[in-house]
Amino acid sequence: MKAEKIWFDGKFVNWDEAQIHVCTHTLHYGLGVFEGIRCYECHDGRSAIFRLREHIERLYNSAHIVDVEIPYPQNEIEKVCKDIVKVNGFKECYIRPLVFIDSNQLGLYVKEFKVRVAVISWVWGAYLGEEGLRNGIKAKVSSFIRHHVDAGMTKAKVNGQYVNSILAKREAISCGYDEAIMLDTEGYVSEASGENVFIVKHNVLKTTPLTSILPGITRECVIKIANDMGFKVKEERFSRDELYIADEVFFTGTAAEVTPVVNVDGRRIGNGKPGEITKKIQQKFFEVARGMHKEYEDWLTYI
Ligand SMILES: *Cc1c(COP(=O)(O)O)cnc(C)c1O
Repeated sequence: MKAEKIWFDGKFVNWDEAQIHVCTHTLHYGLGVFEGIRCYECHDGRSAIFRLREHIERLYNSAHIVDVEIPYPQNEIEKVCKDIVKVNGFKECYIRPLVFIDSNQLGLYVKEFKVRVAVISWVWGAYLGEEGLRNGIKAKVSSFIRHHVDAGMTKAKVNGQYVNSILAKREAISCGYDEAIMLDTEGYVSEASGENVFIVKHNVLKTTPLTSILPGITRECVIKIANDMGFKVKEERFSRDELYIADEVFFTGTAAEVTPVVNVDGRRIGNGKPGEITKKIQQKFFEVARGMHKEYEDWLTYI
C-alpha cells in the first residue's frame, strides 16, 4: 500500500513525508473523522469517483456531529479527491479523507486545537477478497454489541468508534469467519464491522433502518437500484434468527461493495451459494459504478 503523493494540510507531499507527532491528540483519544470513497475505471476507459459529493457531505456531517470544524470549504476537499487520483496516476483506487486534531496539550478537553486534514489514496482491491465477492463469505454474530445511539455517534464515521468494529472483526476472524455482524443494544441486527446488512426473504429485501447504523451510501444506492429493478425493500428491524432463515444475506459498503454472505454462525444461508437477487444487484451495482447506465450518471464524478 503506497502511492506517490498524499494531500496534507493544503498541499501534496511525498507519501513518506506525511508524518505526525506522537502527541497528536487524535492518536490518543480517537476524536477524528474519516471517509472511504472509491474511484472506478469505467467501461469507456475514463475514471469516475462514485458518489463523491455524498461522501464529502457525510465527512462534514461527521465533523459537525463531533463539533469539529474542517478548515476548508467542502468543494475544495471534493476537488482534492479528484486531484489525488490524477496526481497519483490511478485508474481505480480507494480515497481516504481524514480529519484529526492536533494540540499542544493532551488532556481530554483541549480548548485550542488545530484541525488537520489529509486525503490519502491507494489501490485497494476487494475488501473481503475477490473470492468473497464471487462466492460469498462467512459471518459471525459478534459478542460485541454495536454502540448505543446515545453512546457512540453512529451517524458519524468517528475514528475511535472503530475500536468496537475491530474487536468484533478480530473475534470473528479468530473463530474462523470472515466478518462480524453486530447486534444493537436491543438485540436486533445492526451492521457489520464496516458494512450494512441486507437480507432477502421471499423476494423482499430488508435492511436495518437508520437507527444504530452508519448511513451507508452503498446501502442507499442498493435500495434505489433494487427498487428500480422492481424489488420491494423494507427498512425494518430484524432479529438474529431472521438472518439464519433468510433466503439470502449480503453486505454493502464502499470497501466491501456488494458482498454475498453464505454462512452465518455456521448455518448455511439459502443453498450456501450467493443468492440470485444478491448476484443481480451486485452485477447492476458494478455496472452503475463503471458508468454503464445513463440513468445513474449523476452518481459519478469523472476525473
Ligand atoms: C463506512 C461504513 C459503512 C458503509 O458505508 P458506505 O457509505 O456504504 O461506505 C457501514 N457501516 C459502518 C460502520 C461504516 O463505517
